[in-house]
Amino acid sequence: MDKRDYYEILGVSKNASKDEIKSAFRKLAKKYHPDVNKEPDAESKFKEAQEAYSVLSDDSKKAQYDQFGHAAFNGAGGSGYGGFNANDFDFGDIFDNIFGGFGGFSSRGGGRSSNQPRKGNDSLIRMKLSFEEAIYGCKKTVNIDVIEDCEYCHGKGGTGESTCDRCHGSGTITTEQHTMFGTFLSKSTCPVCNGKGKTYKERCNKCGGQGKNKKNKSFDINIPAGVDNGNRLKLSGKGSSGYNGGPNGDLYIEFAVSDHRYFVRENDDIYLEVPITITEAILGSKKEIPTLYGNVKLTIPAGTMSLDKQRLKGKGVDNASNRHKGDMYIILKVITPSKLTKEQKKLIDQLAKTDLDVEVIKKFDKFTKENS
Ligand SMILES: [Zn+2]
Ligand SMILES: [Zn+2]
Repeated sequence: MDKRDYYEILGVSKNASKDEIKSAFRKLAKKYHPDVNKEPDAESKFKEAQEAYSVLSDDSKKAQYDQFGHAAFNGAGGSGYGGFNANDFDFGDIFDNIFGGFGGFSSRGGGRSSNQPRKGNDSLIRMKLSFEEAIYGCKKTVNIDVIEDCEYCHGKGGTGESTCDRCHGSGTITTEQHTMFGTFLSKSTCPVCNGKGKTYKERCNKCGGQGKNKKNKSFDINIPAGVDNGNRLKLSGKGSSGYNGGPNGDLYIEFAVSDHRYFVRENDDIYLEVPITITEAILGSKKEIPTLYGNVKLTIPAGTMSLDKQRLKGKGVDNASNRHKGDMYIILKVITPSKLTKEQKKLIDQLAKTDLDVEVIKKFDKFTKENS
């Protein structure tokens, strides 16, 4: 089986620090988590990154992998990502904040003491932009479902408040777990009050006692010039409302940018293939060509070869987010005509009778002769 290199999967070098490895994994986890990314290969990419991280974040496994590669873990219980070190990495942090409860209230049982103020869930939406909208920036209206405090019970979930009998107001309960390694105490959210620490005589029927409702919000945003495919814009505080007085989550907008008919973008540079005639290539000419900033006159030098490149400095994307101005590259493509008039054919015949062999062709013909 062809397995990708763990460093390659995370996109880090062999001497990356622990923090670099962690942050690389964190990025991939956010990108490919199956709750968010619905592309068919997202789950396998997520698992791949998880596996790579489980090895590279563990000093002894990393050392084994560095020495033996994937062979280090073959046969020894298969892929090693069962041994994910949860202490080393705050998974809950990613998943609660970024992915938790997309479109719903996920009351996850975890060790969180849930009546503490906590940031609301972040949201992610994808937005399609035309090539021009991405290059020049634009205004867009965003429509999004977020979770907000219920306006009927003001986020409390009911009326007639009293302290929860089960957890005595702490919102968490402690349970003992007996295992072969000993007894572990684990904290979990109180199932009676769902971590609020309080119970209510009358449950609010507008929010089912959750204290939160889904709400559709719409607002206008300015997309800065120069955003690219896959870029994410963060709008602080535009996500779901926080818990127990915590701050709102953030809204991330990820862009999907359409291709242009002629301009090809690569980071902040723009490539344009310009077709020219054989006579323009031979004799040279001046030709008007399109750029992102209107047309310019381009000088095509005599003796231009097909696919010769010219650089127009600063005529690429003027990127507001990295304050970088890209360049434009013109690729001159000599088009050989396939249909000629009688007159043109005659002229070309005459031209062919002259000695058109330049040095490089003569040398090559000599090689052909020697080779026979
Ligand atoms: Zn309510
Ligand atoms: Zn309770």
